[in-house]
Amino acid sequence: MTRACGAGASLSSPERDSRSWAVRWLPLRQRVTATVYLAVLLAALVGVGATWMAQMARMQTDALIQLADAANAVRGFRTNVAGMQFAAHRFVASNHTSAANQVTLTYTETRDSLTDCLVRECAGAGAQERLEQLLEHLDRFYQAFAEAVAQRSALKTVIENRFKPNLALVRSELPAIQDQVIEDAEVAETRALERHLHGVEEATNALLYTADLKPYASLTAEFECEREHLKRLSASVSPLTLSAIETALREMETTWATLLQRARSYLFLVNVVMAADAHEMREMADALEEQLDASLAEAHTEIDHALGWFTVALILLLVLGSLVVLVVGRTMARSVTAPIQALTRTFNELTAGSRAPVRLYSPHHDEIGELGRAAMRFRDANAEIHDLLRRYQALNEDLESKVAERTHALEESNRELERLAYTDRLTGVLNRRALERLIADEVKRGHRYARPLSLLFFDLDHFKVINDRYGHEVGDSVLTRLAAEVGPMLRENDRLGRWGGEEFLILCSETGCEDALCLAERIRRHVEQFDFATAGRLTLSIGIACLGKGQTAHELIAGADQAMYRAKRSGRNCTILAPLPDASRAAADDPGPRGRA
Ligand code: GH3
Ligand code: MG
Ligand code: MG
Repeated sequence: MTRACGAGASLSSPERDSRSWAVRWLPLRQRVTATVYLAVLLAALVGVGATWMAQMARMQTDALIQLADAANAVRGFRTNVAGMQFAAHRFVASNHTSAANQVTLTYTETRDSLTDCLVRECAGAGAQERLEQLLEHLDRFYQAFAEAVAQRSALKTVIENRFKPNLALVRSELPAIQDQVIEDAEVAETRALERHLHGVEEATNALLYTADLKPYASLTAEFECEREHLKRLSASVSPLTLSAIETALREMETTWATLLQRARSYLFLVNVVMAADAHEMREMADALEEQLDASLAEAHTEIDHALGWFTVALILLLVLGSLVVLVVGRTMARSVTAPIQALTRTFNELTAGSRAPVRLYSPHHDEIGELGRAAMRFRDANAEIHDLLRRYQALNEDLESKVAERTHALEESNRELERLAYTDRLTGVLNRRALERLIADEVKRGHRYARPLSLLFFDLDHFKVINDRYGHEVGDSVLTRLAAEVGPMLRENDRLGRWGGEEFLILCSETGCEDALCLAERIRRHVEQFDFATAGRLTLSIGIACLGKGQTAHELIAGADQAMYRAKRSGRNCTILAPLPDASRAAADDPGPRGRA
């Protein structure tokens, strides 16, 4: 008894013990081979059995056919005997050669057929004796016929050679006698003599051609009468003629007796001997036919019985074969299919991540055991891979978090670096590099979208005096304070930056000259009124440049710078608007210097 094992089943000890020897010890391949051999053997056994049965049935059928042939032969034999008897009678009566030939031919055929049947034992061993007797009677029958034919032939020869010449001689003498007689009585005697001679001829012909013995047997009286007639004619007829006729008549009478004896002899053969043999043969044939019919019925019954047994044997063989195939197939299925299904479940569970140990068939000395051990190794390897994978995932997660952390720090550093790169260290506003980039970008944007853009350039007036008078630290604090004061005055889009020294730039996006000028004035006035503590009050000189058509960033900065210097030159603490370039001037209003304090 086998049971599925693997992840879900195992075998108990009694179950293991009840396993067949083949399942426990034979490898799967040999079990399959043995099953195939067994199936082929069974098929061969069924085939041999069926062939043997067919052979037996054929033998029985052959015997049956042989018996039927024998029965037909016996019936034919009876008909042949009747035919031969009839032909024999015909021959004796009519002396036809064809009748004799028919008898001989039929005898030969019948004898051959009987001999063949005897040799082949066609009617069975029990009928051999009867067949031999039949053959014996047939031979006797034919011998009698042959004897009758010989007698008949001899009779004919005697009639032709001895009887008829004498009769002809007497007939030939009759005219001479008639010539010699004169009286009416004697003439009547000669006519009576002639009539008697005719009667003799008629009786002889009847004997010869119709086998009618009766007229011939009564010829004694005829011969007597003729002698009497001759005696009465002796007075008128010459003694020589009379002597010749008497001699011929005597000769005929002698021959008649022989012929009569011979005729009786062959008629006896035909009518008595042959008839008796024919009767005997018919009787025997009837008995033989009965025996054959009984044998046929018996053979029929035997065949029916044999067919019945054959059928039962065949069914038993098929049932037995089917049972064996069923048992072997079931055993194979249990020892192969169930473990494979269990292993399939095991592999599915392993694929699904099961870590349960793989349980195997025991004993497992075959290929399925190998497969089970492979499953175990697979599970172990799988578990190891899972462990490695988990560790790798943990490491990976750790690494990813560290990388994210580092990346974040780096990004922060980069942002800080970028901020530092674009920030003035002293004032905290944009440095010159940032301003240059911003101005370049905004100039491009202004040109592309035809938007207004203004640049304010302002410089502390006489700042050197502060340094010289109060020191650089005070100067630095003034610069820092200035940036802190200006920054809040700007809009969100305006960008403040330190260009260098005490010079600052304000980039005003979306801002035209008018607004830029207002802004510059507000800044200038605010600074003018602002108290820088130690440094006191300070002023700014501001130059403004608005983006003109086709103007570059560099030209815009230069324009603002030059405007700021013009403000310096104009006495400081004032705002100067740079002129628009030539291309833009025609379209713009005249800006003119404005905002002087
Ligand atoms: P003007 O009105 O013509 O602008 O005269 P000014 O003195 O302001 O201009 P000048 O170019 O003669 O002098 C500028 C001074 O600014 C010289 C320098 O010592 C000072 N300076 C430049 N950068 C710094 C800085 O970062 N800190 C301090 N404290 N002083 C600076
Ligand atoms: Mg200055
Ligand atoms: Mg300066």
